[in-house]
Amino acid sequence: AYDHVLETHRQHLSPVVTAYFQKPLLLHQGHMEWLFDSEGNRYLDFFSGIATVSVGHCHPKLNAVAQKQLGRLWHTSSVFFHPPIHKYAEELAALLPEPLKVIFLVNSGSEANDLAMLMARAHSKNSDIISFRGAYHGCSPHTLGLTNIRTFKMKLLSGMGCQSTMCPDVFHGPWGGSHCRDSPVQTIRTCSCAPDCCQAKDQYIEQFKDTLNTSVASSIAGFFAEPIQGVNGVVQYPKGFLKEAFELVRERGGVCIADEVQTGFGRLGSHFWGFQSHEVLPDIVTMAKGIGNGFPMAAVVTTQEIAKSLAKCLLHFNTFGGNPMACAIGSAVLEVIKEEKTQENSQEVGTYILLKLAKLRDEFDIVGDVRGKGLMIGIEMVQDKMSRRPLPQEEVNQIHEDCKDMGLLLGRGGIFSQTFRVVPPMCITKPEADFAVEVFRSALIQHME
Ligand code: PMP
Repeated sequence: AYDHVLETHRQHLSPVVTAYFQKPLLLHQGHMEWLFDSEGNRYLDFFSGIATVSVGHCHPKLNAVAQKQLGRLWHTSSVFFHPPIHKYAEELAALLPEPLKVIFLVNSGSEANDLAMLMARAHSKNSDIISFRGAYHGCSPHTLGLTNIRTFKMKLLSGMGCQSTMCPDVFHGPWGGSHCRDSPVQTIRTCSCAPDCCQAKDQYIEQFKDTLNTSVASSIAGFFAEPIQGVNGVVQYPKGFLKEAFELVRERGGVCIADEVQTGFGRLGSHFWGFQSHEVLPDIVTMAKGIGNGFPMAAVVTTQEIAKSLAKCLLHFNTFGGNPMACAIGSAVLEVIKEEKTQENSQEVGTYILLKLAKLRDEFDIVGDVRGKGLMIGIEMVQDKMSRRPLPQEEVNQIHEDCKDMGLLLGRGGIFSQTFRVVPPMCITKPEADFAVEVFRSALIQHME
């Protein structure tokens, strides 16, 4: 049966999506932080799909709410009014600071960022958009321009390298953030609190200014930033960097967009939104993934002023955005986050995992860096701490596979896919964290033998 599945996959599912493991998992069931395969083996899910299952697989409360709504009304689009959308809009707006109170509901992070781009252009009346190197903001034709990770770029025409030709107005700022020395982009240590961060910040601000001055002259529509880069391998900015970058963008007439697709809904522990940890107030916030605990939904939140600028320019519509099922589930997710104190758990268990992993970093030369915040953690694998070259793919793959075989699913990220990503559902417990770190340690020992 397993071979048949592999064959069906090969024949009928697009090869553009590559499976995570040499021997792909056939997942049948999920319960909170655990997943079960077809043979009944269980896996501790340390990647939540892709950083998506925020409060737990098949959470009983969400199941009950979804079933109730299923029996009542599945679908109507946002041109018709229905109670779940108003309830949800009120609840989500209450979680954002003034003046971020106007909500547009869509279905995915890419759609949310596409819409944010339209808003930035409509409001500023400029066209140029800036994002960071190593950024990931989506895979739609427009957000592909914002995304700056080589493997996602389409090599369209010879001589155009890996640049996406589909969104030519996007310029990428200076941030590279890999810990590895032979990264093709900027190389600096990306720890959150190293004493050299102040120096790094000034250096990067200078480069950011260069990007603004040389690439986009004086007209900027918008600037996108993930509060912590996720797909790039959990990359953090030096303290104060984002705040200054926001000021520079605003001086040139641009609006600032926080992409909270991975960092929102309490995942970082200390704050509900990632932008709060940088002490900045964005003009637009985009969110997806954890917002629906795996149910497809996403949102763009902005100010009345920006929302009105967009409405003056065009009619915009989304068939499924804000449908009754999504809104009912979204409300239930917010309730669970509050009732079960998942943000507090992110802070507590996240810090606990970070400290345990830091010990592994000291113990193993191939663990180059451990970084992150709350339950968004990166473990960067290197050949050795001296050279800081990325550990070869096959070796990282083997450790990844070994962890899976011992019951732990980790994520991957970084330009060389050299960083393991720890982004579990926020209901994870300390004993489960102990199990995960022990499995990872065993895989490292196996690798050294
Ligand atoms: N922004 C960020 C920060 C993301 O991590 C992702 C998805 N990895 C997206 C946007 C795109 O979201 P989606 O896949 O739902 O379109």
